[in-house]
Amino acid sequence: MYRKVKGTLLIDAKNLEKAEGGIKKAAALLRQGGLVAFPTETVYGLGASAYSGEGVEKIFRAKGRPPDNPLIVHLDRLDTLQDLAVDIPSHTWLLAARFWPGPLTLVLKKSPRVPLEVTAGLETVALRMPLHPVALALIREAGFPLAAPSANLSGRPSPTRVEHVVEDLAGKVKIILDGGSCLVGLESTVLDITGEKPLLLRPGAVTLEELQEVLGEVEIPPDLSYKDRAAPSPGLKYRHYAPRAPMFLVEGSRDQMAEKMKEICRERRERGEKVGLLVSRENQDLFEGEVVEVLGPRNHPAEMAARLFYALRRLDSLGVDFILAETFEEKGIGLALMNRLRKAASGRVIKGGK
Ligand code: AMP
Ligand code: MG
Repeated sequence: MYRKVKGTLLIDAKNLEKAEGGIKKAAALLRQGGLVAFPTETVYGLGASAYSGEGVEKIFRAKGRPPDNPLIVHLDRLDTLQDLAVDIPSHTWLLAARFWPGPLTLVLKKSPRVPLEVTAGLETVALRMPLHPVALALIREAGFPLAAPSANLSGRPSPTRVEHVVEDLAGKVKIILDGGSCLVGLESTVLDITGEKPLLLRPGAVTLEELQEVLGEVEIPPDLSYKDRAAPSPGLKYRHYAPRAPMFLVEGSRDQMAEKMKEICRERRERGEKVGLLVSRENQDLFEGEVVEVLGPRNHPAEMAARLFYALRRLDSLGVDFILAETFEEKGIGLALMNRLRKAASGRVIKGGK
């Protein structure tokens, strides 16, 4: 049940009933102001009490996170929302009823109870109720909401399996709760509802189409990759989700994409470089003999999304010098998938064909 890695206690919480003792231990550590890494349905989080500025500062230190990048506060019941936010607009309740617990983060005006360390000095706070039994049990047992960004070192792809958390944070935090693989595998959708019109700050598994169904109009920043402009959401401007090797997206028809990728593989190999390819299951066979990571079937973008960060870390561990990735339709969760791919590639795109 318990294992130690570099002094960090790794607690198996895949079976909730058997994990009761472990969750109590983790909650006790949180009450003493410590940090706990825990599973959510999106990615693993690194939590501290949302009411403790000091606890929250430890998160920034452990991750090496820039101090102006705010955290998301995780709650286990709706009542807590009124402790954390003020001037709550009425559609908050509609959104919460439909999407919580689940991968939707709402940005609201913060209450004085939320320390500025959590919001990186902003007067707004990001809130979400996660859909994971271990996350919910941990918050309940602790007795307070948890401020928690993703449990990775700043700049690295978010952790979707416990090995990723161990890789980045063993020796830096006291407890990691192991909940197995994250079902969604991409960070939550972030929606700012403090303004006149709701604004989509980060696409995720709660899709734009679903939000439009509830709210009617939703504003979308013109370029969700925020390559050249100031990011409307703090944190979005940073290098994110990125593998160590430089990455490029390859656009075009299936043939054009395949031809371009093979051409680049040849050129790079001649220079003694190792290229890794990130492709769909359908296109895997086009690249025999190459280093390939398969995301999943093209017609199942949720499956590809769930595997993306795993695949990026895997290509890093294979020691590739250069990564090329296929592109996908920006519809439904495909919008979030492409958003993370664009960021991992720092917006760099190569066009296939002449
Ligand atoms: P992470 O949990 O690591 O994915 O990071 C949380 C992200 O949520 C930040 O990088 C921001 O993009 C967003 N966020 C958190 N708080 C706020 C806020 N008050 N206003 C706008 N965006 C926020
Ligand atoms: Mg993060």
